[in-house]
Amino acid sequence: MPPGGRMGGPIMRGFATEEEKAAAPKLTKDLLKRVFSYLAPYWKQLLLVLLAIAISSVLNLMPAILTGKIIDEGLIGRDLKLLIIYIVALLLTNLAANLIGVLESYINTWIAQHITFDMRNQMYSHLQSMSQRFFTSNNQGDIITRMTSDIDGVESVVTNTFKSILSNSITLVFAIIAMFQKNWILALLGIAVIPLFVIPTRKAGKTRWTLTREAQECNDEINGILNEKLSVSGQLLVKLFCKEKPEYEHYRAANEKMVKLNIKERMAGRWFFVVLNTVTNIGPMLLYLVGGILIMKYDSGLTVGDITVLVALLGKTYMPVNSLLNIQVDWMRSMALFTRIFDYFDMPVEIKEPEHPKTPAKLEGCVEFKHVDFSYEPERQILHDICFKLGAGNSIAIVGPSGSGKSTIINLIPRLYDVCEGKVLFDGVDVRDLELAYLRKNVGVVSQETYLFNGTIRENLLYAKPDATEEELVEACKKANIYDFISTQEEGFDTMVGNRGLKLSGGEKQRISIARVLLKDPALLIFDEATSALDSISESKIQEAIDPLIDSRTSILIAHRLSTILAADEILVVKDGRVVERGQHKDLVALGGVYTELYNTQFKRIPEE
Ligand code: ATP
Repeated sequence: MPPGGRMGGPIMRGFATEEEKAAAPKLTKDLLKRVFSYLAPYWKQLLLVLLAIAISSVLNLMPAILTGKIIDEGLIGRDLKLLIIYIVALLLTNLAANLIGVLESYINTWIAQHITFDMRNQMYSHLQSMSQRFFTSNNQGDIITRMTSDIDGVESVVTNTFKSILSNSITLVFAIIAMFQKNWILALLGIAVIPLFVIPTRKAGKTRWTLTREAQECNDEINGILNEKLSVSGQLLVKLFCKEKPEYEHYRAANEKMVKLNIKERMAGRWFFVVLNTVTNIGPMLLYLVGGILIMKYDSGLTVGDITVLVALLGKTYMPVNSLLNIQVDWMRSMALFTRIFDYFDMPVEIKEPEHPKTPAKLEGCVEFKHVDFSYEPERQILHDICFKLGAGNSIAIVGPSGSGKSTIINLIPRLYDVCEGKVLFDGVDVRDLELAYLRKNVGVVSQETYLFNGTIRENLLYAKPDATEEELVEACKKANIYDFISTQEEGFDTMVGNRGLKLSGGEKQRISIARVLLKDPALLIFDEATSALDSISESKIQEAIDPLIDSRTSILIAHRLSTILAADEILVVKDGRVVERGQHKDLVALGGVYTELYNTQFKRIPEE
């Protein structure tokens, strides 16, 4: 029966396809070098572990050797004193091996924890440097898996795989040396059996590897489901569309697949242990037979104790050989883990810090778009030759049909994306030449979808300015027209906003986010007005908050309401990624173009008009 044949099914076919072969990580010198670069800072501790493993491996062979002495010199030699000495030695070596084992596992765990600590931090910081494009196009489940189970896997590589390779190799070498020292004929005989279990072990290993990979993919899928469907918005959608049952079934199916894969992986090659056990029993049988013949028929000098020692040592060689062969899977799995992690590390940082970042003394918030083209994906251009200029202290309202590219235009200012052609200038300097943190500090965005962290109102506000005083908080909230609301709350600034701020109304969230931006005090204020309808009281409260802000600083407003549009100095009309009209409200209405249509269909109906 082929390995895994018992289980059957398409998964149990080892490296059946070229694709699967290709998915096995390529063990290159560079990969190994890179893996070891994470171990390098802990070389002193590693040396200690190595020493501990070497000592305990040798100590673990001692019982086998001492047993021979107990039999020959103590029992057969009838020497009670020697018998007691050897028994005490046996006890002491056992105790010493265990104590060293404790020390070794402490240092080992320490190293593993520190390596994963370094990796997690590096990954988090790398992910933070990834562009918006990365987060919009990658599955959140994958990102979380990389941060959690992949890096956790690295810990087990260090604590188990590396340790196992080291200790098994050392035990194997010492056991073989000890066997040859006792009797080379019997040593050769015992070792001759080893190739018999190499082939099935390798085959079982390949099957397990394929299953491991499938389990990993399944894990990604489950993480993705949990992330999407158990999020606040996901659950809202599920509930409102009564999708609980199909979603449960979807999750259950993925979960079931995982269970099956896990069982298959654990069981892969179990049958072959039957073969293995038989083979490992053949070795000692041969040793007893040939050893007996050597004692009885030839004057070989062999003793009963020697044969006992050789049989015990043989067991000590089979065990590490078997483990080392099985480690092949762990090793491949570890390398696959590292490859997956390194793939993430190697993703280029799209929005790069300039080589010589500029930090002008004072920014006034002037913005100029010069012939800007932009596309999210190569085949679909979103913005075409956008040109406009916004002077210091002025304000521009960008209007246009949904999907015309308004949000895309403002995304280019704080460099959430970089232009494909042309330039975006901030106070006359190309945004790509400004220090990134400096640029973003000077651009305040109140976005359409307000995001508040799960915490108190105070914590959310302090996110913009951690050292803000109580007075500053109150002032910002008053300006943003939210202070009255906060003061009516029992807990005031310490009111919890709930997951994503969902304990607050849309209007309250918007005004808190305006207060948050005010605390940041940016040179340029971008306000992406919510398209969702707020009641007229909420709207007017927001309007009251933003009117003075627009007057006092350079601002860009993506406007959906006439009152906001009228508050701006100039109106820019965008359609299909192009600026098609610009000017003042009266002129644009008279033009009879896109703006007039928008006015007639959207703005005119707003009661404030
Ligand atoms: P709205 O008023 O509805 O918010 P908008 O004018 O702000 O719309 P944008 O959000 O700028 O429009 O989108 C412009 C176009 O770019 C749309 O067709 C949209 O599908 C596309 N788009 C937006 N974000 C992405 C993205 N991350 N990846 C790919 N395409 C995108």
